[in-house]
Amino acid sequence: MTVYNDQLSQYISDTFAAQDEALRWAWEDTPRQGLPAISVRPEEGRFLQFLVRACGASKAVEIGTLGGYSGIWIARGLLPGGALITLEREPAHAAVARKHFEAAGVADRVEIRIGDARESLRRLAAEGPFDFVFIDAEKSDYGAYWDWALPNVRPGGIIAAHNAFRHGAILDAGDRAAATEAMRVFNRRVAAEPRVISTIFPGGDGTLVAVKK
Ligand code: SAH
Ligand code: MG
Repeated sequence: MTVYNDQLSQYISDTFAAQDEALRWAWEDTPRQGLPAISVRPEEGRFLQFLVRACGASKAVEIGTLGGYSGIWIARGLLPGGALITLEREPAHAAVARKHFEAAGVADRVEIRIGDARESLRRLAAEGPFDFVFIDAEKSDYGAYWDWALPNVRPGGIIAAHNAFRHGAILDAGDRAAATEAMRVFNRRVAAEPRVISTIFPGGDGTLVAVKK
């Protein structure tokens, strides 16, 4: 029997998630600039791009920009004329991301909004509805981001959330860390939400995906 594992995840990357120079640079340059090395992996980025195009997204929102690596993949999945609004608290992260978006040729389609995402989202609601939302900031805030995303995504739109596995910690009963508990609660809550059809893509650290009915 074949079981999903890191080798198969690597196989997906090698086969489907070829990176051009700009993506490779964004990936390597982000930690070099002193930002945490927590960008999505290439196969996860490819999956985001796939989801964006599969739901025909023109209007996407990302919560947690970091160095822009996942944002490049999302922007490259948008329909022509589409745009990504990506939210980031740290001006220094936004500055690094802006460089990477320019190098990837998507700066014309990506707007970085600096500030606390909860505040930015309150204002952003007036610009909706959106086709695609990617949640990838503090795990303890995922519930609040979900509360925003569900009413602000159109039917047929997709909400995705990174780190659904917390690097495997969600299965470790001894791990009572707040972020791990928050992810357990979040996964259970989305799974039980009748207004979406949801599951977890197991590549990398797991991406929860939900399509709104
Ligand atoms: N999506 C990125 C990684 C994001 S890491 C990628 O895969 O390439 C999480 C980011 O969210 C960090 O840059 C952090 O500064 C930002 N963040 C955390 N809490 C936030 C908040 N409340 N508002 C806005 N940004 C936040
Ligand atoms: Mg993440």
